[in-house]
Amino acid sequence: MSRIFLQSYAAGKWLPPSGKISELKSAVTGKVIAEIGSSGPDFGAMTQHARDVGGKILRRHTFHERAAMLKALAQYLNERRDALYELSYDTGATKADSMIDIDGGIGTLFAYSSKGRRELPDDVLFVEGALEQLSKGGNFLGQHIATPLQGVAVHVNAFNFPVWGMLEKLAPTLLAGVPAIVKPASATAWLAEACFRMIAQSGILPEGAVQFIAGPTGDLLDRLTAQDVVSFTGSAATAQMLRSNRRLVENSVRFIAEQDSLNASVLGPDAAPGTPEFDIFVKEVHREMTAKAGQKCTAIRRIIVPGAHREAVIEAVADRLAKTVVGDPRNEATRMGALASLAQRADVLEKAAIIGRETRRVFGDPGNFKADGADSEGGAFLPPMLFECVDPDGAESIHAVEAFGPVSTVMGYRDLDHALALANRGKGSLVASIFTNDPAVARQAVLASGAWHGRLYFANRDTGKEATGHGSPLPHMIHGGPGRAGGGEEMGGIRGVLHYMQRTAVQASPNLLAGITRSYVPGSETVEKPQHPFRMRFSELDIGHTINTASRTVTLEDIEHFAEFTGDTFYAHMDEEAAKANPFFPGRVAHGYLILSFAAGLFVDPAPGPVLANYGLDNLRFMKPVSPGDSLKVRLTAKQKTRRNDEYGEVRWDVGVYNQDGEQVAGYELLTMNAM
Ligand code: NAP
Repeated sequence: MSRIFLQSYAAGKWLPPSGKISELKSAVTGKVIAEIGSSGPDFGAMTQHARDVGGKILRRHTFHERAAMLKALAQYLNERRDALYELSYDTGATKADSMIDIDGGIGTLFAYSSKGRRELPDDVLFVEGALEQLSKGGNFLGQHIATPLQGVAVHVNAFNFPVWGMLEKLAPTLLAGVPAIVKPASATAWLAEACFRMIAQSGILPEGAVQFIAGPTGDLLDRLTAQDVVSFTGSAATAQMLRSNRRLVENSVRFIAEQDSLNASVLGPDAAPGTPEFDIFVKEVHREMTAKAGQKCTAIRRIIVPGAHREAVIEAVADRLAKTVVGDPRNEATRMGALASLAQRADVLEKAAIIGRETRRVFGDPGNFKADGADSEGGAFLPPMLFECVDPDGAESIHAVEAFGPVSTVMGYRDLDHALALANRGKGSLVASIFTNDPAVARQAVLASGAWHGRLYFANRDTGKEATGHGSPLPHMIHGGPGRAGGGEEMGGIRGVLHYMQRTAVQASPNLLAGITRSYVPGSETVEKPQHPFRMRFSELDIGHTINTASRTVTLEDIEHFAEFTGDTFYAHMDEEAAKANPFFPGRVAHGYLILSFAAGLFVDPAPGPVLANYGLDNLRFMKPVSPGDSLKVRLTAKQKTRRNDEYGEVRWDVGVYNQDGEQVAGYELLTMNAM
């Protein structure tokens, strides 16, 4: 393979490496793969380009349009992933490791695209949570809304997942409408650059939406303002240095940190050898130690097991480790490849030596190790190393030193409280897993350990093959953890998008709020037209278009007929005495579902037309009983429209059902699909 000269992509131009040139070597062969420069592009021009061009264009697009970009990008990368796999081998990754990185990254784009379309509006602002009534009269309301930050997101990524690490940050950022500058870790930057190059070449994202730095960040952080975000993944030491940058502190620049973490896995007291949980646990520990050669921020570093089963666990894990082929990642039989670099190997050995002072190594001798079918000297290979600690209370290093490689320590516990206390000694972690089939153990673990871990992963015989794994962050769930893990949060579905937006409490009159949110708000202006709103196509329908229906009297015969017809002969509808004895009812009352059915009968316009389907209702409340002789009428108002595709869109209707005294007896939101 010819040498790659890593380039930055700044203000729409690719720039060759400059300044002092460093060589980046294959983790497998030690041969030079790429060259990277030491002096970066003009960071002032980059931030300005992001703010003045990328951000402005992105913010003009709705969430749905941005979600469509993510989907197109995911498809584009998916078609080209073989080229990325090829480059990935030299980072030390096996095919299975690359799948986590490359397919995992592309999958995250797909997931955010679909979440964006389903959970965000086809609008440029996000309405968060319920409307708050701030005054008795209803003329002063409150609503939280979120709008995109008007600056740039600076993403600083770790070396271990050059593709996933980039895409899992880009997806929520772009969906939020914020441009990004990506700075990958140098050690594996050739893979990140190749993926970024594809993104740029695709032409799917608007100009200025993404830029790329090959090399150091120079004075970039000194240029950030209150509208910018830094999202960092890497070591605690680098995070601390970057987050204390004077400019960031002065401007309260958001800083999201994903740092190192001493993740724990607990074998439940019930999971003795011979149980399915014991077997799943051993498999998972082995997988976490060897996948990506242990270079996962979420890898299991501490194996916490009942004291009585310590030997059995060591034996079972060691047995699996002994069968693990470590060597050339291109070889199909290889289960564990190389670490990312010789420097990384040296670092892991140094950390393992510190851990070794308080433990005993029970598997893996780095001094006596040969990689399978590969150059053990030139490549950054290590055997998996398992340690045993007999005094986990007294030992410090096992809870504090992260050897970012295939290194893990087994320790015994006395009882569950002890196990969870040990798990919490990591001072804040990304994930802890508990292998148990006992719901009481699971609850105790959440109560004792939830506050110390960003994610708790429970596995048992039921989760089996469907479980996604201790070490896999998912786009739907938050990734991040308290304390040592950085105190940050990423992903977690739409939560991750909101990290790049400003939440604002908006207080206003109903009419102003309706204008701001482009949806009907109780008390805002409505319009009545000669045409029934069900006759309007999606594109013609105005928010606030209302009909007030005729009324219909509910008779005792109606109630009895409905009861017999549906089989719902609950006493409150059928037995005057019993109903009267109930604190909620004056006597026999109409069924809630009868009220709904009559309401539909009052507001529906029956002929074929633009309303294609009723597909549900939200927030249904029955507010007052309806007695025989009461008459009902309905107010139906178009509340909100969400385009789904070129053919139809969703209309949310505000429905109020009232009695003859004008008192509301029921309220809900009806959803229909309307033709364009
Ligand atoms: P690192 O040395 O802290 O580097 C992380 C990133 O920061 C790299 O892109 C690095 O760029 C950059 N960086 C370093 N010094 C900088 C500076 N002065 N200004 C601007 N950027 C700077 O960490 P790493 O060795 O790449 O990654 C391993 C660590 O990351 C492990 O501790 C692991 O636990 C953690 N990690 C955490 C997560 C998570 O999600 N929580 C995920 C993966 C890894 P250069 O490479 O160019 O120096």
